[in-house]
Amino acid sequence: MSGIESKVVAITGASSGIGAATARLLAERGASVVLGARRTDRLDDLAAEIRERGGQAIVCAVDVTRPEDLERLVQQAVEAFGRLDVLVGNAGVATIAPVADLDLDRWNAMIDVNLRGVLHGIAAALPVFRAQGRGHLVTTVSTSGIKIVPGQAVYAASKNAVRTLHEALRQESTDGTLRTTAISPGFVRTELVDHMDDPAARAEAQQAMARIGIAPEAVARAIAFAIEQPDDVEIGDLTIRPTVQG
Ligand code: NDP
Repeated sequence: MSGIESKVVAITGASSGIGAATARLLAERGASVVLGARRTDRLDDLAAEIRERGGQAIVCAVDVTRPEDLERLVQQAVEAFGRLDVLVGNAGVATIAPVADLDLDRWNAMIDVNLRGVLHGIAAALPVFRAQGRGHLVTTVSTSGIKIVPGQAVYAASKNAVRTLHEALRQESTDGTLRTTAISPGFVRTELVDHMDDPAARAEAQQAMARIGIAPEAVARAIAFAIEQPDDVEIGDLTIRPTVQG
């Protein structure tokens, strides 16, 4: 099976930004999408919009820190559409603070969502992929893990842990069942930085976003590119950043 049409794709963090743009694009190109996040009002609106345009979408309340929520996401995909072809593990949170601040709560919040959340998705999806004999994990990582910037240590570490996880999983899965793709966006204009609770860090990040950030649709197109390849072609790593990003 190649292409996007008729594929069943579950997306975490589908309520805004990159996740929402990806859901719109994939649905437009004929995929059935299963939208997961905590803000279900947003998901309901997005699902309604997709259906109005003739697409197929269902909604699932998901907090990725809870393994059982990811199991439900996968289960709902299988119940509604008969299988799961792709899990896009995209939910993420970012805070910026020097390590010296020793803010354990913020560190743990990032690790819980960005790393454990992805692991919970893998744990839920892999048994289904194995039973089907095929499946694709796409995870949103970050250029923060490539060019390490002071203040982003734990965020970058959480993203690089996922990058490592993907590479190990790839090496463990060479029987042709599983494809893995790590997507590394640079500055993308989304709500990500609006949730930062430190006002100075938030303002600085918002300014950088406004100045050079690219549209989330650019990342959605990269995800679509990875998904549409034939089964014997794995797009392992993709970096998508503003041309002017340093
Ligand atoms: P947004 O803030 O717009 O989207 C983040 C999404 O993650 C939201 O849909 C949010 O949904 C979801 N989310 C957060 N916490 C949880 C949770 N506990 N359970 C379920 N969902 C959760 O930002 P982006 O679209 O930019 O972020 C998407 C991904 O891209 C993230 O992994 C981010 O780290 C990564 N990224 C973004 C970059 C950028 O410049 N924007 C750059 C590099 C990487 P809800 O709150 O409704 O649960």
